[in-house]
Amino acid sequence: MITDAGALLITVVRLQNIDMDADIVIIGAGATGLFTALDLSLRGLSVVLIDRQGMLRGTSGRFHGLLHSGARYATTDKAAAVECRQESSTIRRIAGGAVFDVGGLFVSLEGDDDAFADRFLKGMDDSEIECKAVDLAELKRAEPALSPKVRFAASVPDMVVDPFRLFGGVAVLAKAKGARFLLNHNVTGIDRRKMTVKTDRGEVSARLLVNAAGPWADKICAMYGNMVDMMPAIGLMLAYDGRLVDRVINRLRPPSDGDILLPFYGSCILGTTAQVVEDVDDVHIEDDDVRYLVEEGSVMVPALRDRKYSRLYWSARPLLKADDARSASRDFQVLDDEDILTVIGGKLTTSRLMAEKVSDSACQKLGIKAECTTKETKIPVLEPAASMRGTIGEEVYGFGASFTEVEREASS
Ligand SMILES: Cc1cc2nc3c(=O)[nH]c(=O)nc-3n(C[C@H](O)[C@H](O)[C@H](O)COP(=O)(O)OP(=O)(O)OC[C@H]3O[C@@H](n4cnc5c(N)ncnc54)[C@H](O)[C@@H]3O)c2cc1C
Repeated sequence: MITDAGALLITVVRLQNIDMDADIVIIGAGATGLFTALDLSLRGLSVVLIDRQGMLRGTSGRFHGLLHSGARYATTDKAAAVECRQESSTIRRIAGGAVFDVGGLFVSLEGDDDAFADRFLKGMDDSEIECKAVDLAELKRAEPALSPKVRFAASVPDMVVDPFRLFGGVAVLAKAKGARFLLNHNVTGIDRRKMTVKTDRGEVSARLLVNAAGPWADKICAMYGNMVDMMPAIGLMLAYDGRLVDRVINRLRPPSDGDILLPFYGSCILGTTAQVVEDVDDVHIEDDDVRYLVEEGSVMVPALRDRKYSRLYWSARPLLKADDARSASRDFQVLDDEDILTVIGGKLTTSRLMAEKVSDSACQKLGIKAECTTKETKIPVLEPAASMRGTIGEEVYGFGASFTEVEREASS
């Protein structure tokens, strides 16, 4: 069922052989593309958003669920930590109904490096992220599933976010402000001279193009001869029935595999891994990957070892090339190629800010003086009827054809 805000949207029209034009064409209906469509529409530009699938079918519907406080990056990436602190509080303010303010814990266990815990506390201080040591006896009562080997714990303002509620609302609002959606249109080419985006179902012309194709961004760049060096890294997540924990539990050690377990409605989700792949469209998850993730996670929460996970899903991080996936920056960049802007990297938590930056650049190029207003714009929060297989929402909403009502009506 869609709430009142969803009623703004109307019937389905499948566009064949489209021939449209717009100020800006955005490729990718994930978190970044959807927030960019909203931002630019609020600034009065005509926008067409294209995706080869529906909405949130890439990484954004298949992420871990964490609205980062920034704590995760406090020791390794201060810029990313500060952005997360600011953006998580903005998202909570503008879309409170999509956010679960459960709080988080960082726990170190017997044998973990004390020096890292010291660096973490300093990083939290430097990034101005709230952090308090937690009494271990109290912790045992509050989170009984945690390992008895926990030696230190600190509370942090981590939250959980439902992407279908949040971005369903972003789509509804963008559409109400005039954005047009071409879902199930695969972009197959870009004619730079004519500023035309070719899809398998027709063409769209624009004054400017925003590439928000996440881990596929390099493939879009290659369509107009720009070779961007990306390093997509796959992350695996396991969902378990029942809430083993009530807060986001993070292992207090350098970012690694299997070190976050978080509650998501009536389930909990263990993640994740970081395995660089050649091609995001050709990924195979092996039993060993699953066993490894369970093994790592059960060090923090031993009950995971004996429980059967109810399902697994995975997605790819849109990372720019670095030495390895864990050391690659989680910050984002806007690559400026005259009339084509590519927004790359980042996190779902920072997608509003990524959209703001790329929209600022777009407006500057088009000579339009209009400020970003997404920071103050309340997002209507939707309750989707169904989600799709292989996403974070599958068990919450049940498996339907998809997050269809919102998608259909957006593309009407
Ligand atoms: C395992 C994992 C866990 C994560 N957990 C978290 C977390 O807990 N918190 C957090 O904040 N961030 C998390 N992230 C990061 C975050 O999920 C991503 O940074 C974010 O979702 C990327 O959004 P996006 O819109 O840029 O890309 P996507 O959501 O992938 O969207 C790109 C879109 O482009 C479309 N597309 C691609 N090619 C074409 C084409 N040829 N034609 C038309 N459309 C095309 C795709 O269909 C897709 O819908 C996680 C990432 C991973 C991999």
